[in-house]
Amino acid sequence: MKLKICGMKYQDNIEQVAALQPDYLGFIFYEDTPRHFDTKIPNISEHIKKVGVFVNEEISTVIEKVNEFNLDAVQLHGEESPYYCSILRSTKLFSNDTPIEIIKVFSIKDKFNFDILEAYENVCDFYLFDTKGKLPGGNGYRFDWSLLNNYPSSKPFFLSGGIGIDQVEDIKNFKASQASKYCYALDVNSKFEKEPGLKNTSVLREFINKLNNKKTMNYNVDDRGYYGEFGGAFIPEMLYPNVEELRQNYLKVMAEPDFQKEFDQLLKDYVGRPSPLYFAKRLSEKYNAKIYLKREDLNHTGAHKINNTIGQILMAKRLGKSRIIAETGAGQHGVATATVCALMGLECIVYMGEIDIARQAPNVARMKMLGATVVPALSGSRTLKDATNEAIRDWINNPVNTHYIIGSAIGPHPYPDMVTRFQAVISEEIKWQLKAHEGRENPDYVVACIGGGSNAAGTYYHYLHEPEVGIIAVEAAGLGVDSGESAATSVLGKEGIIHGCKTLLMQTNDGQITEPYSISAGLDYPGVGPMHAHLSKTGRAEFLSITDSDAMEAGLELSKLEGIIPAIETSHALAIFGQRTFKPDDVIVVSLSGRGDKDLQNYIDYFKI
Ligand SMILES: *Cc1c(COP(=O)(O)O)cnc(C)c1O
Repeated sequence: MKLKICGMKYQDNIEQVAALQPDYLGFIFYEDTPRHFDTKIPNISEHIKKVGVFVNEEISTVIEKVNEFNLDAVQLHGEESPYYCSILRSTKLFSNDTPIEIIKVFSIKDKFNFDILEAYENVCDFYLFDTKGKLPGGNGYRFDWSLLNNYPSSKPFFLSGGIGIDQVEDIKNFKASQASKYCYALDVNSKFEKEPGLKNTSVLREFINKLNNKKTMNYNVDDRGYYGEFGGAFIPEMLYPNVEELRQNYLKVMAEPDFQKEFDQLLKDYVGRPSPLYFAKRLSEKYNAKIYLKREDLNHTGAHKINNTIGQILMAKRLGKSRIIAETGAGQHGVATATVCALMGLECIVYMGEIDIARQAPNVARMKMLGATVVPALSGSRTLKDATNEAIRDWINNPVNTHYIIGSAIGPHPYPDMVTRFQAVISEEIKWQLKAHEGRENPDYVVACIGGGSNAAGTYYHYLHEPEVGIIAVEAAGLGVDSGESAATSVLGKEGIIHGCKTLLMQTNDGQITEPYSISAGLDYPGVGPMHAHLSKTGRAEFLSITDSDAMEAGLELSKLEGIIPAIETSHALAIFGQRTFKPDDVIVVSLSGRGDKDLQNYIDYFKI
């Protein structure tokens, strides 16, 4: 059966829905509906037929619209007569001379007299059976499909009226019945909307997959270490034994009750979890939506990073390692790693670019105080990527006693998945906390900023396969996406390999990695974790990019409205409220990934406080 998605309205949304490759898209030219179409149709695949929906419209107007919008079909939703249909069908008006398809609609309530069809048999191409309601179309109610057992014609028809994702089983039963013999297409509309005219692409995708008995899209890592086409382990041969040892053991170790007990206990007593889910009343009032903040900033060491380093230090101990190495850029991950090494009494070596060491003196001091050795990376641009190279070199030379703690959801498999699982405690808590606040586990949106993507991966994890939960990923636009000074990987990145995984990566045409830029050190990464590359590619997540200045303003705003000074990374996530509107009853959970103490000097300089 073919699929028609009707009531399209917004350009971006039309493009996203067209990417699902339906057979028909419907545009309603009837003015008395919130789904009234009054803009342009963007360029979409020529395999998708564009249908104009009309109600008792002047024939000349219909013809005008057909020409203006290059329509392939018209759907007549009023009391158009057979004569009306015949004129429209015989008028030669089309640029490429293929006749337009005429779809005549009949609305069914409890009964239907099929005799009326006879007069239309020779003047239209399809019938469409809809539910009779107050307004033509978009009523959201289903009629009794078994009435179609009496269908007397052999003309193909569209089945419409209140079809939603809950009806997949009914549709399958219908397909198996006699009544569906001439059913040509399903027509869906209001049951897949976030608001009139705005379609929910993830629910639509799920519906299409279910109808086709396809396994629903998997957003977790697969057995080979891939998220769709991204991920994998692209490593030098010398590193293979280290990574393979981890790959073979990480799930086994994490499943041990003893491991889970120790992890949970430390998260509780040492990190201070659960972190609160705070309803931000004044922020919500300002932006007219229900905004909750997941307070990762209240964790020990001031951000979400400690969730991962606690998990990995326990993993290292189980694997018999006595020495820990890490890379760090701004020093946040270095501090989180030095902290857990002190906690466990393990040796800690942190590689850090020479330039970063000079820029981040307080964090260097913290690491030293915690007993770590900070080793400067002297090659290349002497920043994060060079520190990472040094760490990898160290690991190759010390394969037996050393574990490398990577600080985000990046690196060769199994790192992105392992880090995601440790950070998944964030969404695990959101579920029960939101239930207590709102009576439901699922918000309408989860929002997080993305550097490599670990706080985001943790915030999304338990919602990835809940299609009604919208996922919003916020990247750093720096001085602007087109400025050359940016870190908006989903927009600027192309497929490439960085630090052992295939992902979206900012690079020149000949594959040189481009230096990223953001005012926030934690988002200043040229790639993005493979999970997020997949979420971007499949359209599961909506990616937004936020400039330095919008982020800084949002940071100041949260301080003034809620008494919380956020990390500048986090301010990016908060800045979406100035960029995108939500409905008043939308429940939005934002990952407040870290506190702003470390960024105080930056805020002071920026605002001349
Ligand atoms: C490091 C950091 C980030 C970015 O890292 P992800 O792995 O993308 O989460 C975001 N917020 C804060 C506060 C950080 O310290």
